[in-house]
Amino acid sequence: MPTCQNCHNKWSWKQTFKGSFTLGGGMTCPYCKEKQYLTARMRKRSTLIPFVIVAIIMLGNLFLGPSYVSIFALLVLLPSVFIINPFFVELSNEEEPLF
Ligand SMILES: [Zn+2]
Repeated sequence: MPTCQNCHNKWSWKQTFKGSFTLGGGMTCPYCKEKQYLTARMRKRSTLIPFVIVAIIMLGNLFLGPSYVSIFALLVLLPSVFIINPFFVELSNEEEPLF
């Protein structure tokens, strides 16, 4: 779980999960009310994940043919990404440039 870089309080899964939907503008720390931003490393990763999932599904379609398997994979993989994501979130006090 991420730690606020300003007050060093640990965020809960629920707080991080809610915060991860407010893209761009950063997330407000529930403890000190300071704005926290995802690190550039984290943001790069979160833009990459949907592509990886789509690639896996496309490959599945290619080898197995279009089937319920790919729909099932999509329904299972996407929510699990959202559930797992808060565990890997890293916070920073400032908005880091991507490049
Ligand atoms: Zn804080």
